[in-house]
Order: sequence, then C-alpha cells, then structure tokens
Amino acid sequence: MLKLFNTIRKEKQEFRPINKDEVKMYSCGPTVYNYPHVGNLRAFIFADTLYRWLKYGEKCNVKWVMNLTDVDDKTIKNSREKYPKMDEKTALSKYTLYYEGVFFDDLAELNIQKESFFNNPRATEYIEEMKDLTRMIYEKGYAKIIEGSVFFDLVSYVKSNDYGKLINLDLDNLKTGTRTLSDEIEKENVQDFVLWKGVKKGEPYWDFELDGHDLKGRPGWHIECSSMGHAILGLPLDIHTGGVDLTFPHHENEIAQAQAGYELDTANFWLHNEHLMVDGKKMSKSLGNFYTLADLREKGFSAEAIRFFFVFNHYGSKVNLSDESLEAASNTLKNIRNLLSIKKEGSKDIVDIRDRFYGAMRDDLNTSVALACMMELLKGDYKKDEVSQFFKEAEDIFGIYFFEKNVKIPQDIIDLAERRVEAKKQKDYQLADSLRNEIIAKGYELRDTQGGYEIKKQ
Ligand code: AMP
Ligand code: ZN
Repeated sequence: MLKLFNTIRKEKQEFRPINKDEVKMYSCGPTVYNYPHVGNLRAFIFADTLYRWLKYGEKCNVKWVMNLTDVDDKTIKNSREKYPKMDEKTALSKYTLYYEGVFFDDLAELNIQKESFFNNPRATEYIEEMKDLTRMIYEKGYAKIIEGSVFFDLVSYVKSNDYGKLINLDLDNLKTGTRTLSDEIEKENVQDFVLWKGVKKGEPYWDFELDGHDLKGRPGWHIECSSMGHAILGLPLDIHTGGVDLTFPHHENEIAQAQAGYELDTANFWLHNEHLMVDGKKMSKSLGNFYTLADLREKGFSAEAIRFFFVFNHYGSKVNLSDESLEAASNTLKNIRNLLSIKKEGSKDIVDIRDRFYGAMRDDLNTSVALACMMELLKGDYKKDEVSQFFKEAEDIFGIYFFEKNVKIPQDIIDLAERRVEAKKQKDYQLADSLRNEIIAKGYELRDTQGGYEIKKQ
C-alpha cells in the first residue's frame, strides 16, 4: 500500500483514490513571466516523479493537470514594459506565450512530456469559471466589493470554518477590516485577500458584473487554481502538489475559496516539495542566487544528470545545489550505465530486492533507498535477464535512460523530426505537436535537447 506524506494531516497516510479507476492530480504550474530557475523545476520534476510512480509503479490511471499562470501582477508589468505600444491583452498574450514555450522546452529536456498533462490550462482561458466562483462566494456572504475589487471576507469565513489547516496559523493575528490587493501575504499578517482585482489604467481587463457593480478587472492568483481544478478535474482532487512556499497563502486560500463557493474540499492529499537551496539559502529570483537549466548545461551537466540529482534526493528534504552534488549525481548515473552494460550472468532471483524497492517507493517515494536497491542489483550475483527487465521498468518509473541505446533510427523518423524542428522555427506549434505524435505512434521517443533533439526506440 502506497503511503504519502499529507501536509494537511502532517503524517504519512495510506493513499486511496476517491474513484478507484482514476487518480485526479493537480499541480500548481509556473507563472510564465521569466526563465524558470532549477528550484522551480524541482517542483515539476517532483510532480512528474509522483505521476510516474502512480502510473508505472501503482498502475493507476492518472489525470494530471498543471496550470499556467499567464495573468498576474508580474506578467502584466513585464508585458507592458516589453510591448508598450501594443493593446494590453495582445501584449500579455505575446509575452506569456514566449515564456510558456521556454518552460515546455525545459520540461522536454528534463523528460517531462507535455503529453503527460491531461490539459494545459492557461488562466486566461478560464476567466468565466473564475468569475462564477467569485460570484458564488459573494452570494454566500463570504466576499465584499470594495472600490471595484472583490475581497474574500476571512473574518466571516472563520466564524464557521477552519482556516490555516496546512500551516497552523495563529488566527489571533487575523487583522479585521484590513485587506490586500497583493497575492502574497506574510504569515504574521493574515487578512482579507483579493478574488478579483479592479482594472488599473493601462492594464488588460475582462468585463464582470456583480450585484449591479461594473467590475472590469482580472482574477486574483488564488482563484485561478480553484476554478481550473474544479472545471477540469472536479473537486475534491485526490492529490494537489506544489512547492512548500505555496502552502500559505496560496493553498490555504484555495481551500477557503472552494469551501466558501462550491462547498467542497479541495484535495484529500496535499503534497509539497521542499526547497532547492544554494549555500544554505532558498534558491529564488529575489535573492539572485539562481541557475537556469541552460546555466547548468553550460557548466557541462546533462539534463539527465540534473534530473537524476532531483529524482534521487527525496522531495521532502531541503537539497543543496552545488557543482559537487551535481557531479556526484552525474557519476552515479554513468556508473549505473556502465555496470548495466558489463553485467555478468548471475544465479540469484531478484524478487526480494524488488520487494524492497517497491516498499521504499511506497514509503512516501523514498527514492534514496530505491536507488540503493538498484545498486545492489547491479553489483550482486543476480540473473541478468531479470535485472535488465527491472531496469527497463525503472526507466519509465524515473524518466531516466539507464541503457545506452545504439539502435539505428530509420530515415523516415529523422525526416519527421527535422520537419518538426522547422515547424518550431516557424512557431507552428500545432504542426510540431502532431509531428511529435506521429513519431511516438511509430514507436520512437523524442526529446528536445539543448542542441536539437534526441530520438530513441521505445
Ligand atoms: P512560480 O513560477 O514562481 O509560481 O513557482 C513555480 C513552483 O516552483 C512553485 O511550486 C514554487 O513553490 C516552486 N519553487 C520556487 N522556488 C523553489 C525552490 N527554491 N525550490 C523548490 N521549489 C521552488
Ligand atoms: Zn496554484
């Protein structure tokens, strides 16, 4: 039985999907306003590791949604600066589409396939649903309209509901009668948060009428995830993921909004990845201590080594990024490949180690113990066929190639891949996607890399 650490219960719990035929998983996606750093990417590699385990390890049918935040303070500000003469909405969309492309290229390099996502919802495509939820919250008496914006009324909400279940908030600090238009709030400063922001001059806006008020404006950040999760998967979700910094206020507010408006729980399981650190500090844009995937590639680390580093450091621990730690991951991966290629015939059955491997992964994805089991298989006197079979499965589970594949790729597949490169150059992403699907349908895997692409037989 799979056990996962559930932030809302603060302990490991047995995982059972609400509907046994389908797991509904939602991950807070990126804000597409800049190049993501590898700290951000840790959050998505973690979600992908969980998704792959559910799919390949537990054989679940998983619907995984990751949203794209393409309207918020940062995207608006940057798009206005970059395209000052353009109409506001066109500028926003042009600006965010570029960074969306950057993000998906990074994911592809890290072997997180766009095809894994059940849907790629952009916030701007779900504005109607966000208005609906805002209206529902308002009509149930949990929101106030003030100066053209709509605020969640936390004081009236906490009278009959819990707030702060994820991080144990001290509600004595709840500031009555104060509110903020910012999407971020300090823990010490709990107050009414914004659901819908009234338009400011020079900003993109959508029409919205509520209770006789003309509320031209745009959604706040928290309402995006509640509305998209509900519209696409239906609440409550089985699993909701994100980085630990999202627990408050973002996830607390998601819980409150869905409870107030839909009268539904948001998720049964909340899983949070810990931070990626640099010299003991959280990697972040604001501290300036960040690296992008391209930066690390320039230092000579392959995307596979970087993925290996993240996958085999437990998601729930803070991890320090350094040249030495990446070097170590890269060497272990090389060592595994080498040991696999020179593996001699052995006599022992792998079943015990396999059980231990499953036990480790079912213990809240304990990938370090799982890795130790894999090394034992390579070094011990185990039957070669069984070890090979095991590592083939492990390739799917971890999204890392362990075998060097020297299969010759047929010319028609290479032609398709070349046409796709051309389509991407022309920004014809629809054609590029359909060419990729054709390649996959013919039994090959395609991965974008820094220098172009890589094709392997499935
Ligand atoms: P953003 O694009 O800023 O909304 O962040 C995307 C994701 O990255 C969120 O889930 C954050 O919690 C996560 N994140 C940001 N910084 C780090 C870090 N240093 N380590 C791990 N995850 C992070
Ligand atoms: Zn979110």
